[in-house]
Amino acid sequence: MADRHEDDYLMLSGIQHYAFCKRQWALIHIEQYWSDNVLTFEGQRLHEKADNPCIGEKRGDLIIARSMPLVSHRLGVYGVADVVEFHRCTGEEPGAAIPARRGLWRPYPIEYKRGKPKKGAHDELQLCVQTLCLEEMFGVQIEEGALFYGEIERRTRVDIDTSLRNQAETLLGEMHDWIALGRTPVASYDKRCERCSLYEGCQPKMLGKRTAGYLENYLTLVAGSKEDRDA
Ligand code: SF4
Repeated sequence: MADRHEDDYLMLSGIQHYAFCKRQWALIHIEQYWSDNVLTFEGQRLHEKADNPCIGEKRGDLIIARSMPLVSHRLGVYGVADVVEFHRCTGEEPGAAIPARRGLWRPYPIEYKRGKPKKGAHDELQLCVQTLCLEEMFGVQIEEGALFYGEIERRTRVDIDTSLRNQAETLLGEMHDWIALGRTPVASYDKRCERCSLYEGCQPKMLGKRTAGYLENYLTLVAGSKEDRDA
């Protein structure tokens, strides 16, 4: 991706919104619109557990960093990881050096989520972008991370494979393009809208039809002008 100013970096948490609905992401991250509902409130409460900054808690061969700032200059993205575990490397295992700690350590990101594992790869994509940031920051390849779901209170392991990495980078590229355009994708009502926290502000049924009608009128007008010219 092209070099860009740090002011133009994306918030990495936005990729979960973008993967769910491009318009939802743009309303939050371009238009700065936000509306709490029960789902997002519960999500925030779960995050509070992880957002109690405690960098470097050590338990034997494990170091736990909470609310860890992340950045990728290559991808133009920044954010915060809920938890990053650093596991002490054994033998020839590649790992990252950590200031004031001996040896090498393998980063392992963990993202906290409300509810339980769901359809779609929104959460996995967010974890993947965190991983890409950690890889750039520590110069080490990271093969996996985990999602912790509040409803089932357990971790789900996530492979950070090539397909997930490519998908994440493609979506980040699109998000940068939308930011550069300064436009918000039009509303399109479907079943996702029923569980969307921005439904009231988005008004997808009304705005979707209105936009479709506007486009139809515009295209008819353009087609008409062309016929007039060709006549
Ligand atoms: S209401 Fe529907 S179209 Fe609007 S932001 Fe939410 S999911 Fe997207």
